[in-house]
Amino acid sequence: MIVPDFISPIVGYRVWHWDAGGLRSLNGEPWLPGQPMEARCKVSGDGTLVGRIVKPAHGDHHAPQADCTCGIYAAKSIGHLRNTGYARFGITGEVCLWGVVVEHEQGWRAQLAYPKTLVLPLVTLPVSTSLLESRLQTLTAFNCDILVAGREGNVPLWSKGRGYNVAGLDMIVQRYKGWYAVRRQERQVKRGDRVAVLDRGIAVVEHVDAKQVHAVLWNNTVMRIGRKEIVWDGGNARWEAKLSAVFQRASLATSFVSHFRVPSPSPTERPRLVGV
Ligand SMILES: [Zn+2]
Repeated sequence: MIVPDFISPIVGYRVWHWDAGGLRSLNGEPWLPGQPMEARCKVSGDGTLVGRIVKPAHGDHHAPQADCTCGIYAAKSIGHLRNTGYARFGITGEVCLWGVVVEHEQGWRAQLAYPKTLVLPLVTLPVSTSLLESRLQTLTAFNCDILVAGREGNVPLWSKGRGYNVAGLDMIVQRYKGWYAVRRQERQVKRGDRVAVLDRGIAVVEHVDAKQVHAVLWNNTVMRIGRKEIVWDGGNARWEAKLSAVFQRASLATSFVSHFRVPSPSPTERPRLVGV
């Protein structure tokens, strides 16, 4: 069924990719701020939206056509997008559809479209806060409402005419705080980590306390190194320490080492290391 030239737009639901270049259809077609997306069929020559002819009975045509697959797609419900699995590919939202619109059971194919509301999952945010502002500008440029998808519902992030909303910004800030906490955790030296002691080789961390790290070299030498003297080397993905930072060393007898390396059920049962 073709319903020509809607005066009031239909509102459907879509999924977009969102990257540094802005919003894109899942097939990579860019959506530009301030101008409607207009469907073109491949059959029309230089069109950008690819259509596949179901019945190859016509030549060039304006998109969409009932017997083609061209047009800008939108679902009738957000539930349908989720059920089909498309929603996990990016940011979802409402989209205004107008011009020629072909209706299907679950959705529409439209001639013209423009985002109405964008719902941003936190996982789509850039990892670096230095990129956040410019990335969000690629969305606010559309001048439509932007929300953050939260566990208990969507929270306004940016509204046309009102700008940023504190509640949405707070959700984003909390998200970044969580990431930093995880990163700090990952960057704390722990048992089993490798420490490159310059001029001595790789030592494996056996024990960490508040001030010191005890690490064992390949020749069973136990080293005590101040925690602050151990620095993370991102390029080598290992901890590094200068030999001058090692202030006590002890060679362990083989039997002691083998006992020492058996995982203990509790830290209190672990043998104490005694320096010489
Ligand atoms: Zn077509």
